[in-house]
Amino acid sequence: MARSLDYRDHRRELDQNRYVYAVVSRRARGLSIGVNLNPDKVCNFDCPYCQVDRTTPGGPSRVDVAELAAELQVLLRRANGDLWTRPPFDTVAPDLRRLADIAFAGDGEPTTPPQFPAAARAAREARDRLAPGVPLRLLTNATLFHKDRVRTALAEFDELWCKLDAGTETYFHVVDGTRLPFQRILDNLLLVARERPIVLQSLFLTLDGAGPDDAEIVAWVARMREMVGKGGRIEHVQVYTVARAPSDPRVGTLTQERLLAIAARAREAGLDAAVYD
Ligand code: SF4
Repeated sequence: MARSLDYRDHRRELDQNRYVYAVVSRRARGLSIGVNLNPDKVCNFDCPYCQVDRTTPGGPSRVDVAELAAELQVLLRRANGDLWTRPPFDTVAPDLRRLADIAFAGDGEPTTPPQFPAAARAAREARDRLAPGVPLRLLTNATLFHKDRVRTALAEFDELWCKLDAGTETYFHVVDGTRLPFQRILDNLLLVARERPIVLQSLFLTLDGAGPDDAEIVAWVARMREMVGKGGRIEHVQVYTVARAPSDPRVGTLTQERLLAIAARAREAGLDAAVYD
């Protein structure tokens, strides 16, 4: 069954698919089709700002790629057909009635399941056939780029949007809730950025009322500069803060003024950076 959606409401439980969901977003300037490879809600990070509701149990870990492909094809066909004439889509503003992207972004790290390469291939095929020209994106924490099966599958995507929320090991462990070594993330980002341009996504927040200090921002810029100095290509840096209240009550929103100052620091270092709502 095709999914329903309401552009004013990003809750995915409105949808009945297992893997493919859709939101209309002003930021994406249209319909963004999401692919969730983690219906089990398992992630190798435990970011305090995570929006995934883990108070309710997830589904099975194994990804059924045929089912995923079928769900995606149904939604893409509808987007090419009468989608915008039927409720609730008919309430979407005319300038947002376009397919903006297809993005692997779900309730965990999408590169984790063994079926990731097959799912990426299936999505690419469906995109080529039913939505040529629409970008296929991977939103990832880059923890598994060193694995051959993951690195090979990256070629299916037009854009890689990679998380980099910190500049130091200590803050990385706090803000991304992991004991994985920070250097692994930096090495992985460089590995791929040497092969193709990447987009960095950097979320900054307050924890118990305090945002990252200046030293952390200086270190964050330094990590990116090191990457570029070693031949990595950073196409763009997205600076943003938490959009909706996460489950962790310590987490708060960083001010727009501070976000703008952080993005300015990155630009001073020669990077292309902007703040996103
Ligand atoms: S990497 Fe994403 S899904 Fe995983 S805990 Fe962090 S925000 Fe949540």
